[in-house]
Amino acid sequence: MSVCPQKPGQQLRASEDSRALRHGMMQAMTAKSKFVDPKIQEYIIGTTVREHPVLRELREETFALENARMAIGPEQGQLMALLAHLTGARRYLEIGVFTGYSSLAMALALPEDGYILACEVSDDYTSVARRYWTKAGVAHKIDLRIAPALETLDGAISEDCAPFDMAFIDADKESVNAYYERALRLVRPGGLIMVDNVLWGGAVLDPQDEDPDTLALREVNVRAGRDERVDVALLPVCDGLLVARKR
Ligand code: CA
Repeated sequence: MSVCPQKPGQQLRASEDSRALRHGMMQAMTAKSKFVDPKIQEYIIGTTVREHPVLRELREETFALENARMAIGPEQGQLMALLAHLTGARRYLEIGVFTGYSSLAMALALPEDGYILACEVSDDYTSVARRYWTKAGVAHKIDLRIAPALETLDGAISEDCAPFDMAFIDADKESVNAYYERALRLVRPGGLIMVDNVLWGGAVLDPQDEDPDTLALREVNVRAGRDERVDVALLPVCDGLLVARKR
């Protein structure tokens, strides 16, 4: 299952140093990756994560929710923002918004004329997202569609909409292969498709695990791994992030 952020109750280390304390708090509200040694993860976050204050506030509010683990971690948000800068992304497609951490991280990374097509089915979760998009001054970049994502994606394909530079797939896992195929049609050559939770807490390794979500994630890893249409890397960031570059 998604690993970020972690459960409440982890003790903060006492520290006189406010920077260390701030990083400690960040770590306390971030899930431990199952795939990275906790001390290494803490080191990574403590030394290199620069989180926008509105992102931090959003993460703290999200942390109190029952499904808090569905949000990405701050180190993943920073990686995605870096990839946006590397590819010169202006148009970003997000499939699965939840409370908006990843879309906010990306909106902050995109240029002023950037555009995000954000697909989500939950009005409740996105009411949180919208508040923070506004607070951070990036709401004008985000076109939120409350509808089943496949409807929105098929609509974009049939309207022959302008290609996207990046796509992030982090919605219901059973449909991940359908989302991957749609994203491949919607992203430009040289653009990136990222798929979240592809290690699924390690469940993809367990041949006995035939849960539909696990099967779908296992399939998308194999599909992308053999896919001649893309260059691909699977990173053990948070719960596993698949990054595919469309050839
Ligand atoms: Ca996720």
